[in-house]
Amino acid sequence: MTDGCVFCDIVAGKFGTKFVHDDGAIVAFDDMHPIAPKHVLVVPREHYPDLPAVAASSGAPALLGRLLAVAAKVGESMIADGGYRVVVNTGPQAGQTVFHVHVHVLSGRHFAWPPG
Ligand code: AMP
Ligand code: ZN
Repeated sequence: MTDGCVFCDIVAGKFGTKFVHDDGAIVAFDDMHPIAPKHVLVVPREHYPDLPAVAASSGAPALLGRLLAVAAKVGESMIADGGYRVVVNTGPQAGQTVFHVHVHVLSGRHFAWPPG
């Protein structure tokens, strides 16, 4: 757990956040400022600041695989029709604001490509 990290606090249950997925290592919960009708964050309990930090860790293949598998499970469970988008913002220029790695799963509207 990293002091001052809001996602470390959330995964520790500090705010009583409702998890839509919890397998012990990875949780998922609604984004507090959704940018789509359905917007869920998939978050490992262990603190890594960003995607390259996960990729550099010894458990990278397993954790990255599990994060994407949970993202797919969440996405499949919340699509009415039309699919979903999975995003990992990495670094300030990409829009990362919380430096505890997380996967956005977005659904419920059309998403333009290329993204803004
Ligand atoms: P990013 O900009 O990719 O780092 O995404 C961080 C996301 O975390 C944003 O979409 C925020 O709305 C969301 N967020 C920040 N704090 C909280 C919180 N306490 N509970 C739920 N979502 C949060
Ligand atoms: Zn953290």
